Amino acid sequence: MISDFHIHSYFSSDSDEKPENIIKTAIGKGMDMICFTDHQDFDYNYSDYDFTLDYERYFAELTALKDKYKDKIQIRIGVETGLEPHLDKRLADFVQKKPYDFVIGSTHLINGVDPWYPEYFREYGDDVGFKKYFEYVFESLKTCHDFDVYGHLDYVVRYSPNGDKNYSYRKYQDIIDQILKRLIAMDKGIELNMGGMYKGMKNPNPNPQIISRYKELGGHIITVGADAHKAEYLGYKFELAKEILKNAGFDYYTTFKGRKPEFIKL
Ligand SMILES: [Zn+2]
Ligand SMILES: [Zn+2]
Repeated sequence: MISDFHIHSYFSSDSDEKPENIIKTAIGKGMDMICFTDHQDFDYNYSDYDFTLDYERYFAELTALKDKYKDKIQIRIGVETGLEPHLDKRLADFVQKKPYDFVIGSTHLINGVDPWYPEYFREYGDDVGFKKYFEYVFESLKTCHDFDVYGHLDYVVRYSPNGDKNYSYRKYQDIIDQILKRLIAMDKGIELNMGGMYKGMKNPNPNPQIISRYKELGGHIITVGADAHKAEYLGYKFELAKEILKNAGFDYYTTFKGRKPEFIKL
């Protein structure tokens, strides 16, 4: 079973899952390694959530569990950071505070606006809404460097009221290719994120065509995650993930330890 490298627990304000329950579920599903990646989003100005990670408690609790289950499963401690162009220094300082195994850099906000709320697509519609997101990803990559893989590229599509009806890789190829080339030049990976699928999306993020394109352009670092906020979704559709990676020409996937990639045969 592919190791899940994108998992949220009650350390994220949008999950109430117990870390120990996640670990037991992963063992039950036959995983021999998992990585927790709870949220750290600076400047998230919506009252419903506070994505500030209590990293001291996070490390204390996960380190104890890592030890408790060390004969059954390897536990890695990561974080999912929210990238924005002005956050470069704060994110780098944050990441240096603890010995993370793995850091995902994701774009959850576009100029401070969360597209999860319907106002975003109501104001911009699909075409401008998608473009603005990709352009903002590219802007963030110019300043933010302290991460290992870029999270769920193209995930904004999840929140369009039309789903991916008006979206394709081809349509946004110019800007997506610029993003991929930039990531490859920075020696960063991307992830195959299955999280949208248990919410009813037809495709993972990014679209499999983008996974293939990343490989074609010379990218070699690819992690897999279900982005589970509940233990039951760990490893969701990982058989399909394996197929997508193989179709893209990968015969391995990537895990991380101490911010260093490790390559595991598929
Ligand atoms: Zn995310
Ligand atoms: Zn996530």
